Amino acid sequence: MTTDKQLRQRGERVFPGGMYGHMSTYRLMPEGYPQYFRKADGCRLWDVEDNEYIDYMCSYGPMLLGYNHPLIREAADRQRNQIDIGNGPAEVIVELAEKFISQVSHADWAIFAKNGNDSTTIAMMCARAKAHKSVILVAHGAYHGSQPWTNRTAPGSAQSEHDAFITYRFNDIESLEAAVQRSNGALAGIMVSAFKHDAGKPQQLTDPAFAHRVRELCDKHDAALILDDVRAGLRLSTDTSWSALGVQPDISAWGKAIANGEPLAGVLGSESYRDAMASVFVTGSFWYQAAPMAAAIKTLSIVNENEIPKMLEGLGQKLRDGLYKQAQRHGFGIVQSGPVQMPTIMFEDDKEFTRGKDFCSQLIKEGIYFHPWHNMFLSAAHTDADIDQTLDATDRVLARLS
Ligand code: PMP
Repeated sequence: MTTDKQLRQRGERVFPGGMYGHMSTYRLMPEGYPQYFRKADGCRLWDVEDNEYIDYMCSYGPMLLGYNHPLIREAADRQRNQIDIGNGPAEVIVELAEKFISQVSHADWAIFAKNGNDSTTIAMMCARAKAHKSVILVAHGAYHGSQPWTNRTAPGSAQSEHDAFITYRFNDIESLEAAVQRSNGALAGIMVSAFKHDAGKPQQLTDPAFAHRVRELCDKHDAALILDDVRAGLRLSTDTSWSALGVQPDISAWGKAIANGEPLAGVLGSESYRDAMASVFVTGSFWYQAAPMAAAIKTLSIVNENEIPKMLEGLGQKLRDGLYKQAQRHGFGIVQSGPVQMPTIMFEDDKEFTRGKDFCSQLIKEGIYFHPWHNMFLSAAHTDADIDQTLDATDRVLARLS
């Protein structure tokens, strides 16, 4: 029996459903995907059978510059050897806040936490504290974390937890305006994603006219524009993901990649939200952990000095162009959507992802870790040679499937 199988059997006794959440290979991934991993380095992962994969999920986002990055590991280890947690934060928290704020143009203050869940919740509380109102608009189908207020359809959340939320359709100005109307004077904030990155759907870049309308409506109703940059942050821009659209949020929520995999999330806010944020009590036992902050300082430096979003764009475009040509040659209609740095690859007329799962199952045997219906992630550890190796594999698989 394989080691993965043995671990699954043991896991089935100790984890409800065998494994929980977004890493439940049982529930989510096609045939042949490993549940457990043993090693990670650069853009590669090794499963517990020592099979090697070029990884296009990057731990679902946190890995931005490469697993085991020597400079980031060194920065985190050096800090950990001095102090990681204590009765007050370490000096690095100030340095990190200053650095992050100077990099993100709307930001005048920062709060640090652990997960994207924390960031979106803090951002929402800050918006409500400033407005002295309660309604938050969220896009239909958008993911902002697994906590009950945003995990709306899940068993375990109560209807009353959703009473203060109204949904709109992303990129649809009419539906946004209607949702504002329905808020009936109680609007505290409009939460938006970096782009429409709902799982299982073709992705949509943000329509600039929509983004500007969100800003206008927030200004008109004295409500906060909250940008959830947890998933896309630092991959599309060194500033917020909406900076290229010329629209500034009041509050931005960050997580995943900001410390290249060390556990850290953050909320950044503009001056007019400072007092409101100061009035809200938010905290967590591990939110002040210094080693991930040292890792984040190093991550931000590397991202800026090397223009990482641009670099990822080059790699992503190469992958997209290559796949497009192969699909044409082999007679497949593929739908590649979202920014090239975070590619989503689906097949036309494949509602149940049958074709997509088949494609991915065969790729996993070729040592390529793709996802059939979730956006994927490029990293700075991927090289042109990795993309070439990937395209050789996709070519072989598409030839077999055609
Ligand atoms: N917002 C977005 C856009 C996300 O993609 C995620 C996680 N996938 C979250 C919030 C929640 O982050 P976390 O899982 O770190 O709590």
